[in-house]
Amino acid sequence: MDARVANDRVVDVRFFPDDDDPHVTLSLRFPDGKETRMRRKLRETIGAAFARLRSTAAKRRGCGSATTAPTAAALSRDDGDVSEDVPHVDAWTEGSVMTIDGVRYRVRVNAPEVTGVVSVDFPMVGYPLAATATGTTFCEQDDVVFAWSVDGEEVGETGRFYTPTSADVGKRLVVEARGARHRETGEVCGGAVTFEFSVVVSELGVDRRDATERLAPASASSSAATTYRIMTYNVLADAYSHTWSTMFPYFAKDLSKAERRLQLVCEDILFADADVVALQEVDKKWYELLFEPLLTSRGYIATEWAGKSGKTAEGCAVFFRASTFPAIVSERVIQLTKMRDANVARWIEEETNVELAKALDKITSIAQLIKVRTASGGALCVGNTHLFFHPGAMHVRVLQAHEFVRRANEHAGEDTPLVLCGDFNGEPEDGVIRYLRCGEIDASDEDWVRGSLFRWGGTSSRDAAKDIYYILDDGRGYAVDANVKVTNALELQRLNERSIAMSLCARTLEKDWGATCKCDEVTESTSPIVDVKKHVKAGCTFKNCHKVAAFTLRRESALEPGLTMTDDDLAAARRAFADVKRAADAGLEDLTNRQRVLADSLRSDDPSSSAHPIGCGARLRIARDLVSAGGFPEWTNYVGGFVGALDYVWASARDFTPRAVSPLPPLTAVTENVALPNACFPSDHVPIVVDVERRTDRKEARLRSASRG
Ligand SMILES: [Zn+2]
Repeated sequence: MDARVANDRVVDVRFFPDDDDPHVTLSLRFPDGKETRMRRKLRETIGAAFARLRSTAAKRRGCGSATTAPTAAALSRDDGDVSEDVPHVDAWTEGSVMTIDGVRYRVRVNAPEVTGVVSVDFPMVGYPLAATATGTTFCEQDDVVFAWSVDGEEVGETGRFYTPTSADVGKRLVVEARGARHRETGEVCGGAVTFEFSVVVSELGVDRRDATERLAPASASSSAATTYRIMTYNVLADAYSHTWSTMFPYFAKDLSKAERRLQLVCEDILFADADVVALQEVDKKWYELLFEPLLTSRGYIATEWAGKSGKTAEGCAVFFRASTFPAIVSERVIQLTKMRDANVARWIEEETNVELAKALDKITSIAQLIKVRTASGGALCVGNTHLFFHPGAMHVRVLQAHEFVRRANEHAGEDTPLVLCGDFNGEPEDGVIRYLRCGEIDASDEDWVRGSLFRWGGTSSRDAAKDIYYILDDGRGYAVDANVKVTNALELQRLNERSIAMSLCARTLEKDWGATCKCDEVTESTSPIVDVKKHVKAGCTFKNCHKVAAFTLRRESALEPGLTMTDDDLAAARRAFADVKRAADAGLEDLTNRQRVLADSLRSDDPSSSAHPIGCGARLRIARDLVSAGGFPEWTNYVGGFVGALDYVWASARDFTPRAVSPLPPLTAVTENVALPNACFPSDHVPIVVDVERRTDRKEARLRSASRG
């Protein structure tokens, strides 16, 4: 190569033929140090681009250049000069030379580019950090050359990862992406960019043994080839952190930073050492910056991040230990809002199910279905989901579980064993879990009837707050309908919502930490109606403000307007609540009886049908028996106001025998700081880790090969 072509005199030509607008970019640095980048159509001739380059180069030479001779631009290859009529797509080749203004530039084709670098901005001793290059083209993270330094001093080759040591405490970390290796030439190019951590390296400072030790292998696996360790973990999406001051007021702000919290989640995952790691509530950002790089560096292969539908940047992801499951054969994301079961779909469209249809339209639940190859050449199908959360939508969860299992069975095919993980938002006695456990649910099940009272946005504390705004300052519109008799389903629905609102208000009033509203500075007048509106305007609801809760409860109990409750008021409210509750319960019982009579009269035992809707319910069947590999623990979710088991690992019963399950952590460690999450437990859920043994039934294997032959 010509000696005059200096190493840094390069024109980078990058082709983007698959773009919506197929184009090429030309980037170069003029002798005066200024950079230029042009974007041209792929089919355009190089002559047109050169005309632009000539005029730019002429400007670069400075003013008064009008008298200088016109700038020449040309491209030459080993086989001679390239005509200006040749389109970009055919003109540029690696190592050819472009000349402008007498200056020669080496042509580099499709060189990598890196425009930024980021990491998890909370370095802690012993916690591995991943750096991630951003704005990358023509390279993967593995091609990027990273360099880490502590207080300006470079540490040895660590690649994309660095684990701070105790010698680093109090020091400042910087990671640099020095460019990326060109796939063909191996040359490092693409520019250097750095990320300086905003906080110095620190120690975690708490003892997490109560959280992690339980996750360690419970039993030495005797035959590693036939025992799989499965972990399911709702890691608490940072996307909802704006609600935590209300939901987890006991969870200190400095502990709740995603950068700190989710590194503890990763520690849990690495501690459990599972073959399958099914995560829910994974933020897209943290999948990319933390979970995916870290776990793939530790021998896992990852599914794509599977986001919920709509705008929520939170979803599911599954990781497989590559030595157990060398390859993902197929993965798909299904919506748990569109029911493929034709009988169910038709039923949802019925006029009486309009509220259900409306809710399903708004719900964003999805599930992942993944088929992987086992090391011995077999297959496993894994499902991962997070069912709709609303306590009143128990019927939705039954339908979602039905759709999830049906589709998982389809995806698996008849012979492939099945493992279904997730946060099912149901406790063992709830319809959804009874259904999965028993393999069927009756059309007269109480959860169908209760669910039929659900209305999207029904008992929303925010709607209730808005409602307060419509009360006139003179009190008109204050009194609610005191009639607590129920004659039809719609009235029952209203009464039910009223009863829920009353109990939620009472719960807020009971809590010391309920009064975390941001309205301390509201000045009081003589009118509670005027005052409560100030709270509502400040964003208070009956869920986060004692005063709004008191006002709402007084109104529902037909007491004078006010922002506090005396003991007498509370007694009166309790009586009013009892009346409402009694009427609602009677209405529910009546509705349940009617549904039972209807279901009995139309009962069908058609075994070919997986769904048989009757009235407000449906008889559903699961084609394959499932077993809860972790059994039915007392709880997996422990927050202020709710304690219950919501997380499960279901395995196809004919293929697996449950062998071990991680015990629950000691309650004292959980309640030390009221509830979860806290300094040691990074999520409001604890992970469930189970060992399942694959049945290597020879007779079954013979049957299977016979049926194939
Ligand atoms: Zn308030």
